[in-house]
Amino acid sequence: MKTVLIIGAGVGGLFTGALLAKEGFRVTVLEKNATIGGGLQNFTRFGEVFDTGMHVIGGMQPGGNVRKICEFLGILDKVSVVDVDDDCMDRLYFAEDRATYRLAKGKEAFVESLSGYFPSERDNLERYVSAIYDIAGEVDLFNLRPSAPELRAPSAEFLMAADDFIAKYIKDRRLRSVLAYMNPLYGGRGGQTPAYIHSIINVLYINGASRFAGGSARFADLLADVIKDAGGDVLPGDGVESISLENGAVCGVRTVKGNFYTADYYISAIHPCALLELIPPEAFTKAFRNRISSVPNAYSAFSMYIKLKPSAFPYINYSEYFMTRYDDIWNFGRQDKAWPLGFMCMTPPDAVPGPWASKMLVTAPMLFDEVRQWENTSVGHRGADYRAWKEERKDVLLGMMEELHPGFCSCVQDVNASSPLTIRDYYAVKEGSICGFSKDCNNIMLSQLPVVTKVPNLLLTGQNNNLHGFCGVSLTAITTCEAILGRNSLIEKIGRI
Ligand SMILES: Cc1cc2nc3c(=O)[nH]c(=O)nc-3n(C[C@H](O)[C@H](O)[C@H](O)COP(=O)(O)OP(=O)(O)OC[C@H]3O[C@@H](n4cnc5c(N)ncnc54)[C@H](O)[C@@H]3O)c2cc1C
Repeated sequence: MKTVLIIGAGVGGLFTGALLAKEGFRVTVLEKNATIGGGLQNFTRFGEVFDTGMHVIGGMQPGGNVRKICEFLGILDKVSVVDVDDDCMDRLYFAEDRATYRLAKGKEAFVESLSGYFPSERDNLERYVSAIYDIAGEVDLFNLRPSAPELRAPSAEFLMAADDFIAKYIKDRRLRSVLAYMNPLYGGRGGQTPAYIHSIINVLYINGASRFAGGSARFADLLADVIKDAGGDVLPGDGVESISLENGAVCGVRTVKGNFYTADYYISAIHPCALLELIPPEAFTKAFRNRISSVPNAYSAFSMYIKLKPSAFPYINYSEYFMTRYDDIWNFGRQDKAWPLGFMCMTPPDAVPGPWASKMLVTAPMLFDEVRQWENTSVGHRGADYRAWKEERKDVLLGMMEELHPGFCSCVQDVNASSPLTIRDYYAVKEGSICGFSKDCNNIMLSQLPVVTKVPNLLLTGQNNNLHGFCGVSLTAITTCEAILGRNSLIEKIGRI
C-alpha cells in the first residue's frame, strides 16, 4: 500500500485524498486550522452556522462533473444540496438605472430570459451562448473526457480577453455588462481574464447552480470519511511547519506539534507561495521561486455574515448581485475605484429549508490594499482603528442592502464581518485572494502551474493549478491523482459512471 501525505485539508486536499484513498493509497492529510475544509469550512456565530468560502456550487446537477466524482467516491446519496430556482437562478440589480434582471437556468431559457430585456439582441445572445458552450467544450477535464497525449491548440476565442469576447457578439453596452455579472466569482479583470475562464464559469452555472443545505462543512466530513474508511487520517490542528529534502526529494514534513511524517508521495494543497515558505530554497530554482512570487492573485473580499430575526426575511432560492454602474463591471481589481463597486448576496438554506431565511451572506470584492496598513496584525489583535474601519464598511454595505431590499435592516439581528485579512489568515492565501492566481490572457504562461514539480515525489493541487472553486478544484484533484496513477486512468473510470 503506497502512502501519501497531503498538506492542507481544504477542497483540493480532501478531494485528492479521497480519490487516492479510493484507489488504494493510505492517505494522511494535515490541516493547520482546528477545523478541516478550507473553503468548505464553517464557523458558528450568534448560534448560526455560516459557510466561509462555498456559497454557490456548480457541477452537482444530474450529469454534472462533480456529481459524477461524488458518485465515484460513493458519497452522492449523503450530499445535501438545494438547487436554485429554474426560472431565476440569479437576480441582478444595477443601481445606475435601478434595473433588475432575472436570469433563468439552462442554455435556451437563459437566452430567453435575457432576450426579454434586450429583444433586439436575441440573435446575438444565441450566438454568444453557443460560443461559450463551444469554448467550455474544448476543455477535456471539464467534460470528464480522456485527454490526448499531444497538445491541441485552443481556438482563437479561447484566450481572448473575456470583455472583448463578449463585445464581439453583443452590441448593447448594458447587456455586455449584464453578461459579465459573475466577475466577482472568478476575479474577473478587464483586458486580462481569458474568455475560457468566463465561459467555463458561466456554462457551469447556466447548467445549474446549487447550495449546500445546513453548511458546507458536512461535505468536507464526507470526503474525510472516504479517506478514513480506507485506513487513512485527516488531522486538523497540526499544520506543516517545514518540509525536509534528501537527494532532491522530500523525505518528510514536520508539523507545529513537532510530529514528523513520511510518505511515498507528498501533495501540497496550499497556496504555492505558502509552500515556498515551508520548503528549503534548493528545492526549486531561483527563477521558479521568483516566478511563483510574481504571479498576481485575484482580488479579495469583504464579507458580512448576518443573523436575521426569526420569520422576518424570506428565504430566497437564488443569488442576488448588486452592481453600482454598468461600466465598472470589469473594474473590481482596479485601485482607482471607490469601494464597493458591487456585491453578491444570498440566503443559505438551513438543513431543513423553510419559507424564512435565518441568515444572509454578503460578499463584496475588495482589494488587499484596503487593509494593507494592518497586514502585520493577527486575528483578534488588529486594533481599534481596524474595528472602526470594519464597522464603517459594514454600514456602507447595509445601506446598499436596504436599497436592494427596502426594510432589510429592520430584519437584521446581528452582523459579523470579515476582511481580506481574515481570508489570508484562515486559508493562508496570499493577499486574501478569493480564488488564487489571477489568469491574464496577455501572459497566460505566467499563471500556468503544472501539478508535477521538479521535486520527483512532490505534487501540487488546489485552485492555483487550474481553475478555482468547488468544480475547478475537484477536477484538478483528478489531474493530480493521475500524475501518480497514470494519464486518464481515473477520468475513464469516473466518465463511465
Ligand atoms: C469569501 C469567499 C467566497 C467564495 N465563494 C465560493 C463559492 O460560492 N463557490 C465556489 O465554488 N468557490 C468559492 N470560493 C472559492 C473557493 O473557496 C476556493 O477556490 C477553494 O476553497 C480553493 O480550494 P483549495 O483546496 O485550493 O484551498 P482551500 O480550500 O483554501 O484549502 C487550503 C487549506 O490548506 C490549509 N493550510 C494552509 N497552510 C497550511 C499548512 N502549512 N499546513 C497545513 N494546512 C495548511 C488551509 O488552512 C486550508 O484549509 C470562495 C472563496 C472565498 C474566499
